[in-house]
Amino acid sequence: MTVTALFVGSDQDWDTYAPALIEAFKDLPLSVTLTADHAPETVDYIVMAGSQIIDDFSPFTKCKALLRLWAGVEDIVHNDTITFPICRMVGGGLDQGMVEWVVAHVMRYHVGMDTHIHGQDGVWRNGFVPPLAGDRPVTILGLGALGTACAQALTSLGFPVTGWSRSPKSIDGIRCLSNDVADALQNAQMVVALLPKTPDTENILNAETLAKTAKGAYLLNPGRGPLIDDTALLAALDSGQIAHATLDTFRKEPLPESDPFWAHPHVTVTPHIASATRPKPAARVIADNIQRGEAGLPFVHTVDRTAGY
Ligand code: NAP
Repeated sequence: MTVTALFVGSDQDWDTYAPALIEAFKDLPLSVTLTADHAPETVDYIVMAGSQIIDDFSPFTKCKALLRLWAGVEDIVHNDTITFPICRMVGGGLDQGMVEWVVAHVMRYHVGMDTHIHGQDGVWRNGFVPPLAGDRPVTILGLGALGTACAQALTSLGFPVTGWSRSPKSIDGIRCLSNDVADALQNAQMVVALLPKTPDTENILNAETLAKTAKGAYLLNPGRGPLIDDTALLAALDSGQIAHATLDTFRKEPLPESDPFWAHPHVTVTPHIASATRPKPAARVIADNIQRGEAGLPFVHTVDRTAGY
């Protein structure tokens, strides 16, 4: 029997991910056909890249799961026509990619790289000695797959890391908090936002919470744009409460040319590239879930539709 997996995404997504998916399916002890066009009522799995390009999933009467190639699901999680489980991407290179991006930007701030990179003008600027990592508290909002991987990487470099999540956690070497976000932000010199976008996390970084960090803290937002109240962040940057922000995600993407973040001297904009799903490892995650589904095992990385992530 052949299992049918419908690929939903742009032509570019197909070119990026389909070859790796087809290869990964060949390694399975069952026959899986990947197609970009198929009668909905005969589809067993939907493999979905990109933004939602199906509004009504009700014709997919036989579908056993929607397997997302991305980590975020805010665009599909509340779609009531999806009556089967949604599984998001965990692994697939996302964790390693995010660790590399977060560590790179934390280290940029920590060792004060800009002082020397922008100052190649014959002036001997040897006045800045950064604290060692142990004296630079970092707070990571979100202790999921990505937040935990980043927290562990920063801990291994010597940073004291506080992580904040919805449910209580215990992770070796990391101060885990799950109560008031203000406690987690208190005196943080670096803040990394790795929360999903949900009604509870929207504007979690606002005037009140940004005021809790140490004066002159650095902010990284590879999570989602709406986590930040943009007006409050601009005010915090202007007052020096936040020394610099590196923003990878925005309320509107691509970030419009007129957006004040582009021109702000204390903002670095990166175009939602903190961590991309890598085709080969991601294809293995998708193939593994199809194999589990066909063996009658529970899917992994299922989304909690009520929590919204
Ligand atoms: P995840 O495993 O679902 O982790 C989410 C974390 O946020 C969990 O620790 C969760 O708490 C916490 N959380 C959710 N709602 C909360 C709330 N109201 N209060 C406190 N904590 C809350 O997600 P992930 O795989 O780490 O990914 C995180 C986000 O990164 C994604 O949702 C996506 O938006 C973003 N992302 C961005 C890029 C990029 O390139 N910029 C790439 C991939 C992902 P619990 O542990 O208690 O559930």
